[in-house]
Amino acid sequence: MDGNDLLETMSGMTEFESVGDAPHDERPAPQRGVPVHLHDCITNVTAGSRKMPVLKTLLTTACERNCFYCPFRAGRSSMKRVTLTPDDMAQAFMSLYRAGAVEGMFLSSGIIRGGMTTQDKILDTGTILREKYGYRGYLHLKIMPGAERDQLIRAMQLADRVSINLEAPNAGRLEAIAPGKRFDEELLTRLEWAEELRRQSGGELRASTTTEFVVGPAGESDVEILSTTEYLHRRAGLARAYFSRFRPVTETPFDNYQPTHELRQLRLYQASFLLRDYDFSVEELPFAGKGDLPLDVDPKLAWADDNLRQRPVELNTASQQELMRIPGIGAKGAGRIIRARRQGRLHDLADLRALGIARVERAAPYVLLDGKRPIQQPRLF
Ligand code: SF4
Repeated sequence: MDGNDLLETMSGMTEFESVGDAPHDERPAPQRGVPVHLHDCITNVTAGSRKMPVLKTLLTTACERNCFYCPFRAGRSSMKRVTLTPDDMAQAFMSLYRAGAVEGMFLSSGIIRGGMTTQDKILDTGTILREKYGYRGYLHLKIMPGAERDQLIRAMQLADRVSINLEAPNAGRLEAIAPGKRFDEELLTRLEWAEELRRQSGGELRASTTTEFVVGPAGESDVEILSTTEYLHRRAGLARAYFSRFRPVTETPFDNYQPTHELRQLRLYQASFLLRDYDFSVEELPFAGKGDLPLDVDPKLAWADDNLRQRPVELNTASQQELMRIPGIGAKGAGRIIRARRQGRLHDLADLRALGIARVERAAPYVLLDGKRPIQQPRLF
């Protein structure tokens, strides 16, 4: 096969987490020169303050497992199965990279002949890219269920990021949607190993780790998902959790299930950022009766309504952490307020606007300026 044939083949190998539409799956505008059949394989990944187009694909769309939510599960006759060798995959990627169509790669795979054999093929692809082609760009490698510790080490040497998808928040929930997968032995331990390896390597292994949950079909609650997420952020150095709302796939045991509401996915992302970046704990999040976040309100706003409306925060004395808990003020805004206070006191909302805090009206009900609630200008338009 030449490069064009390989690219044609890859068109059947679109994103692995095709049950999801998480923010990291945002599609870039189609680029000139990129074959139309590959547009769905290219996704924007945020690196620092920049977005870069990344080829997100699989070595094979065949799989011997039968996770109930997955389009690639064994036995789905309508699924086109395509397999590339590590050499072919590396060659096809490099042709896209050299053409400027992508700046990185996220490689996963269906499982054939066990997780360890499949992991070897993913590692072979990474090795060919790094050693044969001298590729130094972004590389994200998926860790297969049951991969060995040495394979994880090799993946972390090759990649900027590795991901181990838990799919569900605990063993019982995973059993309900992916009976072949073992939560602790095959998945959670690998996330914990990655953190252990990072710490023990003295800076040599720096690949970050992420995980993903399929939200909805196991009947799990948000508090279950976010408790596991909190554990992973605190104890396993998780860089980010992704949440893929469930959408039914034909020819699967869940094909008559209702899709998960897209707002549930959004609220989980918002809550996970509160856990990771804003020093919230799961106990502080505003869960309703069954342990789910309300769909109709941002969890930070709901927390502020319960906790700050009657006890507003004095902006001239609050700590960084207290400032970041105010709706409309994030880490950057809190930093600007603290720096500005060194020059003098803040008196009114105009002082906040002058600092570049765009969502001043959102913050206003929860703050004091010089001991007084700020006066909000009525909106005319
Ligand atoms: S292991 Fe499960 S989720 Fe992964 S490709 Fe196979 S069936 Fe899909």
